[in-house]
Amino acid sequence: MGKKSLRNKRSEHKELMGFSGFDGDQDAFKAEREKAREMRASQWWKRQLAKGVCFYCSKEFKPAELTMDHLVPVARGGKTTKGNVVCACKECNNQKKYLLPMEWEQYLDTIKKDDAPEADNLDRVGQAEEQ
Ligand SMILES: [Zn+2]
Repeated sequence: MGKKSLRNKRSEHKELMGFSGFDGDQDAFKAEREKAREMRASQWWKRQLAKGVCFYCSKEFKPAELTMDHLVPVARGGKTTKGNVVCACKECNNQKKYLLPMEWEQYLDTIKKDDAPEADNLDRVGQAEEQ
């Protein structure tokens, strides 16, 4: 039962994303894939990989563990430009591919919360001093 409702949700999601009208755009899609391939071979991209940090979870990885990710997916009109391309670890890249946008937002929130407790404590200390 649960699975079925999730599937319905996902097909609605595809319609919202305009996938039904995307077939005519295959050439543009291929062109972006080709650009992505060229960018992967560029010095600029190698420098991004050398930093070894995932754009989303800010954890450190070996360059070989990082993948290229489009901030705005190509399927939604995103272009392969330096401003739209980031390093993502495989975990984040997979999550982004398979989660609904809303679930992806929640995933990002969860990652951020992992780093937050210290700031939280500082807030409480500040409040105690004021009283
Ligand atoms: Zn990551």
